[in-house]
Amino acid sequence: MEKLVDCKFNTKRIHAGYRPEEHQYASSVPIYQTAAFGLTNTDVANQIVTGQLPGRFDYSRDGNPTIQVLEERIAELEGGVGAVAVASGMSAISFTILNVADGGGRIIAPINIYGSTLDEFRNFFPTYGINFDLVDDINDLKQVEQLIKPDTKAIYVESVANPSTEIADLAALAQIAHKAGIPLIVDNTFPTPYLLRPFEHGADIVIYSSTKGINGHGNTLSGLVVDHGKFNWANGKFPQFTTEEFILGDEEKKQTASFSSRFGQKAFIKRIRMKYVRLLGSVLGPIDAYFVLLGLETIAERLDKQVASAEKIAHFLVDSPYVKRVFYSGLNPENKLVKKYLPNGVGSILSFELKGNEENIAKLIKQTQIFSYLPNIGDAKSLIVNPARTTHREVPAKIRQRTGLNPQLIRLSIGLEDVSDLIADLDQALAAAFA
Ligand code: PLP
Repeated sequence: MEKLVDCKFNTKRIHAGYRPEEHQYASSVPIYQTAAFGLTNTDVANQIVTGQLPGRFDYSRDGNPTIQVLEERIAELEGGVGAVAVASGMSAISFTILNVADGGGRIIAPINIYGSTLDEFRNFFPTYGINFDLVDDINDLKQVEQLIKPDTKAIYVESVANPSTEIADLAALAQIAHKAGIPLIVDNTFPTPYLLRPFEHGADIVIYSSTKGINGHGNTLSGLVVDHGKFNWANGKFPQFTTEEFILGDEEKKQTASFSSRFGQKAFIKRIRMKYVRLLGSVLGPIDAYFVLLGLETIAERLDKQVASAEKIAHFLVDSPYVKRVFYSGLNPENKLVKKYLPNGVGSILSFELKGNEENIAKLIKQTQIFSYLPNIGDAKSLIVNPARTTHREVPAKIRQRTGLNPQLIRLSIGLEDVSDLIADLDQALAAAFA
């Protein structure tokens, strides 16, 4: 089948990247649960290992047919030239940062991001010569522009921040980045590609923890990197793309190549696969890829319902006498960034600050009967968590104070249950927390 270039999102999420005629006409994408693939004979082997025989594979760390369907599907859904699936969202972030700042450099990012990402940016990457300029407000465009130095390699954002749901002004940030010859990298985990496709607003690289809303059932860790294919990596700022690489050349023919010269607009995503997935591992398993594909088939129906329920729950919490404030960008329909980037809803995640203290938090969490107390989001089940002590425990109190991430904050991920049951559950748990 030809690429589904003319189909809309809801068709692509079910069909893109899968050609049944290449898989015994199986209705469901087959799980190629194998470490390696036969090479036929030495001539064919040579073609396979040098990437000259599309559709043939050698070793599942380099590529696998089940995983390839997921990669092609997400690339088509986003409007990118390629994607790489990895073992977790953190791998997707790590490999992207390494790829863009190989050899060192600086990256501008907001401070109010997922706890492990912040920990990685503050404490892990600097020991490898990659340093971060972390800003309180990524939409303070003047400050972002002023922070760009000759060795700045990228601007990194969460499109919808975890857990505040603040929205990054992608188009404005992309403009600043491109003026400086650097890419905009977007972690789009919270809204998923169903609600927001950052390439449409100028982003260059999109990252997912597909553990969350893309999978939608909380059964598998996985991550995705998607490449828009529009950024010029040969602009002089990224020598890692223009340096000749032994593995890309042909020793016998005395031919040499760099990622840019060999792969052109696919240089970034090819380099992620060949440098980091291949050499550092962190590969997604075929069964895990299958679960992600299965979840992706129902993303629209899940998100439509979850967004509608999240909006109702946000309003219920605003009216609750036990709640100090609610963090959900979708509460204000006049929010310009919501109108521009998320007209179909901000997502299924919201947070709120409880009046009272951590004792009340403990009681609330203990009393909920439908909400599961666990550190995840984007599940079919509704989830509750206290981020300051769990998902964002890596964030020091000093930074948490700046971002409103105090111990009284509760994050909810809204699932597919009846919203009236969810509200009733929160209602009784809130009352019990203060009884
Ligand atoms: N990005 C965001 C916004 C997240 O919320 C998370 C996890 O919660 C991650 C990345 C990391 O993903 P994973 O847990 O799949 O490694």
